[in-house]
Amino acid sequence: MTLFGTGVLKGLIVTLKNFATSYFRKPDNGGIFTVQYPEERAKEIESFRNFPFLVYDGTPEKIRCVACGICERECPPKCIHIVMETEAGTGKPAKRPAVFEIDYGLCMNCGMCEDVCPFDSIYMDHAFEVTASDRTQELVRPKETLLKSNDYFLKIRPGTATPVDQKRRAAEEKKKTAQAAATPPKTNP
Ligand code: SF4
Ligand code: SF4
Repeated sequence: MTLFGTGVLKGLIVTLKNFATSYFRKPDNGGIFTVQYPEERAKEIESFRNFPFLVYDGTPEKIRCVACGICERECPPKCIHIVMETEAGTGKPAKRPAVFEIDYGLCMNCGMCEDVCPFDSIYMDHAFEVTASDRTQELVRPKETLLKSNDYFLKIRPGTATPVDQKRRAAEEKKKTAQAAATPPKTNP
């Protein structure tokens, strides 16, 4: 037989226990969660996401984005704006963005752009200290400020970036092998 009210008592005991121990534990180990920001900072979990950034390999010229426009089409509030670069002389599409802007004032941090990008180019960032005095101009972030290295990506989100790297290396190897197989062997004159 269960005594009337024991559930409430058990709940209160848990609350009291957590209240008392929270004073002696660290924030990331069940202690008081409040930290004295900005002097102190709470530890960010890897899956934390804020605004998107663009990944490059090595140097910013090696931007992964090919300006396909998929993320621009799929972004629910339509806050991405892309213009593809054209090759000087021929005017052909250069498969890289001349303009890539995201309006942080409209972005709702949904992560859809990351999900739909087929070129491992755009990922959600941890950076959250974004301020501006004018929300119509300063929050429209140009390509130059969105670009971040793959090393940064590996540092903040190793669980996502590492398998992406492995997949890209394997695809590169496969391409090289296929190219080598398609090249006819040299014959002596
Ligand atoms: S996170 Fe969502 S709202 Fe923000 S740019 Fe990506 S798709 Fe658009
Ligand atoms: S970030 Fe990805 S989906 Fe968006 S334009 Fe570049 S390659 Fe395409």
